[in-house]
Amino acid sequence: MQEVLNSLVGGIRGGTLRVVDLTQPLNGDTPILELPEQWGQTIPFKSHEISRYDDRGPFWYWNTFETGEHTGTHLDAPSHWATGRDKGTVDTIPPSGLIGSAVVIDMKSECDRDHDALLSPDHLLGWESRHGQIPAGAWVLVRTGWASRFSDAAAYKNADADGNSHVPGISKDAAELLTQQRDILGVGVETVGTDAGMAGTFDPPFPNHNIMHGAGRLGLTSLVNLEQLPEAGAVVIALPLKIEGGSGSPVRAIALVAG
Ligand code: MN
Repeated sequence: MQEVLNSLVGGIRGGTLRVVDLTQPLNGDTPILELPEQWGQTIPFKSHEISRYDDRGPFWYWNTFETGEHTGTHLDAPSHWATGRDKGTVDTIPPSGLIGSAVVIDMKSECDRDHDALLSPDHLLGWESRHGQIPAGAWVLVRTGWASRFSDAAAYKNADADGNSHVPGISKDAAELLTQQRDILGVGVETVGTDAGMAGTFDPPFPNHNIMHGAGRLGLTSLVNLEQLPEAGAVVIALPLKIEGGSGSPVRAIALVAG
């Protein structure tokens, strides 16, 4: 297997393997989830300068930052949801459980027409008709085109006049298929969360969080550049900070793509 590692590094350095950054920039404008006002809220990312080659520190530049665990391109650990409370925090996920094959489901044209579109079993079975069964240890990534809205918080949230957010998501049936009949690491989306904007009104509420985390599976959100991945064959690596007891963490998510 040493040859595999040699080929990996040779491929990256020689350009026969592409490394695609799936991560959005993290700054004070990074869109964050807003909950109804009776609930506790997350805070925006904020950076505080400590010193910058000046009288606070002549040779060095560094910052302190504050952020929520669920800010920007980030990972949801199983314990993020009540159903997964005993199924693991970010620090307990083994690194091998964060590296997997990318199954890319392209729903962009559908989401252009219908902002409330949901990933369904038909989308998954359609992918399987072209590429075979979703492999064990896959990251199932849903391409909605929502990443292009990331720098415009209003467009990303896409709220109507009543404040209801119209953002695509994952159906209960798709989450059940992926957790009960396939063996995936988790799902990844371009949107602010792994459930639809209106998912609080679904039965059960937030079905993907409920089912995915209840099954000990993971979520990745606010991904970008999914259009640079093939439908099958890429490898995704998404590593959270090892926050003890953390329910989630910003990640630097990358994909390795042949050719
Ligand atoms: Mn989250």
